Amino acid sequence: MNDQRKFTDADLSTPFVEVALWEVTTNCNLRCTYCAVSAPGYRGSNFDLSRIGEVADGMAAAKVRLVQISGHGETTIIPHWEAICREFTLRDIAICITSNFSKVFSDSEVDALARMTHITVSIDTIDRKLLKSLRRKTDIETVLYNMTLIRLQAQKLSLTPRFNWQCTLTDAVTTGLADWFRMGTLCGVTTFTLGNLLEYEALPDSPLHPARLDLPELLAACEDIKQLSLLASASKAELKVQPGIMEGINESLVRFGVKSPFRLPQPQPSSISW
Ligand code: SF4
Repeated sequence: MNDQRKFTDADLSTPFVEVALWEVTTNCNLRCTYCAVSAPGYRGSNFDLSRIGEVADGMAAAKVRLVQISGHGETTIIPHWEAICREFTLRDIAICITSNFSKVFSDSEVDALARMTHITVSIDTIDRKLLKSLRRKTDIETVLYNMTLIRLQAQKLSLTPRFNWQCTLTDAVTTGLADWFRMGTLCGVTTFTLGNLLEYEALPDSPLHPARLDLPELLAACEDIKQLSLLASASKAELKVQPGIMEGINESLVRFGVKSPFRLPQPQPSSISW
């Protein structure tokens, strides 16, 4: 992402920032099997929202064009989080979010989401049982219901927020990538992101980075990712692959003595940019 940085208290006088990441909370309503939030002893924290006006003023002064109101955590668990959005829109700053969509949103939450430019929904698979086993307290019905409500409200407002589905890529979900993509397109998703798994020793139930697979399974996973890429190209959808996925896979292939590196049919961006 060009000119993107994390926005902290100390940055209120930054002269120019195009896109700001603002972590409203590092707490979460889920305990995904692979996430640091699930590690014993994890302690999240919330931003002091009494200073929201000051933050928004600082971002306006820094000519921030777009603020992402989420980081490592779930912003929508903060009571009245949607009121934050108005502080930015009043200052002509566009908003995007990453959310797990795991609670049914209220009307005011749906309205705030419908006014965003981009919405990233964390959803690793459309296999209901597998999704629950990976992300525990989530269900796909709620995710899809929320998406439909937001699209409905956006239609009433003549707005078109772009949806991005993000899958944390693990050995558990590679075989389902094609159907994950197909259902996403049926739900109006135009961007698909494969997220790079960061492995933590303290999480014994975590699935694995595909790079940790044995050679036959690794080659099969490569084929699944390649098929996803072909589907995305054919549908003119955007596929983003976070740094660390291709690199990890190719390091493993080298260790197995495979001479030709794994490449996707179309060059993929190496970083996320809105
Ligand atoms: S939804 Fe995101 S922040 Fe929350 S536990 Fe899952 S991966 Fe972690």
